Amino acid sequence: MGFSTRFAPSPTGYLHLGHAFSALMAFDAARAAAGRFLLRIEDTDQTRCRPEFDTAMLEDLAWLDIAWEVPVRRQREHMGEYAAALRMLVERGLVYRCFRTRKEIMAEIPHAPHAPADVVASAPLMPALEAERLAAGDAFAWRLWLDRCRETLGPDWDNLWFEADGAMLKAEPARLGDAIIARKEFPASYHLASVWDDALQGVTHVIRGEDLREAAHLHVLLQKLLGLPHPVYQHHALVLDQHGKRLAKRDQAATLRALREAGNTPGDIRALLRL
Ligand code: GLU
Repeated sequence: MGFSTRFAPSPTGYLHLGHAFSALMAFDAARAAAGRFLLRIEDTDQTRCRPEFDTAMLEDLAWLDIAWEVPVRRQREHMGEYAAALRMLVERGLVYRCFRTRKEIMAEIPHAPHAPADVVASAPLMPALEAERLAAGDAFAWRLWLDRCRETLGPDWDNLWFEADGAMLKAEPARLGDAIIARKEFPASYHLASVWDDALQGVTHVIRGEDLREAAHLHVLLQKLLGLPHPVYQHHALVLDQHGKRLAKRDQAATLRALREAGNTPGDIRALLRL
C-alpha cells in the first residue's frame, strides 16, 4: 500500500506554530514518500468549533504552501458513520453507559485529545439502577469496557502489536482506563471518529504530536475491535513557548496569522521550526 498521511485539526481557534509543525511534518513526509497528504477537519464539537476558524485554517495552510487532496473530509458531515461504529461496540457489549453529571461528562469527553489521560475508576451500573437513570432521561457517556474487550479478544488482547516511533510496541489500552468514546446524544469522541476516519481514508501513517502517544494504545484497541488496520504512528516533539510550555490556542502571538502580519514568510516559519 502507498504512503498516506493526514493533518487533522479542530477548528476551535487559529492555527499556531505547533499546528504548523504537525502539518509540515506530515506534508513533507508525504512528499518525500511520493504519497498522499489529506486534510481532515475534526469539527464534531459543535460548541467549540466555528466555521470561521475552519476557513482560516485552510487559508493558513495554503499560505504555508501545503497542498491537500480534495474533497476535505469534515467529520460533522459523517456523524451517522460514527454512530454506526458505536452501535457495533454497543451490540457486542464492549461499552457501557457511565452516568455522571453533564458537566463532568462535558469536561471529560475527549474533544480535547490532549487532556490528561482519561483514567477513571468507573464501572457499569447495576441494570435496575441504570434503567432508573435512563427513564429519568439522565445524560451519560459511553465508556469502553476494557474487561469485556479483554474477554472478547482472548489471546489477542496480549498480542496487539503496532509500530510507533520506529519500534514495535505492544498496545496497553489499560493505560487509559475505560475511556469515553461517545455520549448519549453524541455518537463520537475524538478517539472513535479519528480511528474510524484514518481507516476509511486509507491513512497508513499517523504523524502527530507526542501528547497523543498514549492515545495510540487506545486507538490500536479500537482498530482491533472494529476490524480496522493499524497505521504506523509517528509522534513528534511539541513546539514550546518561551517559558517551555506547550503552545495553546490562546497564545495569539504564535498564531500563523499574527506571524504573517508581523512580516514573516512561509520560509521564516519553516526556519523557526527548523524544518
Ligand atoms: N483533532 C486532533 C487535534 O486537534 C487530531 C489529533 C490527531 O492527529 O490524531 O489534535
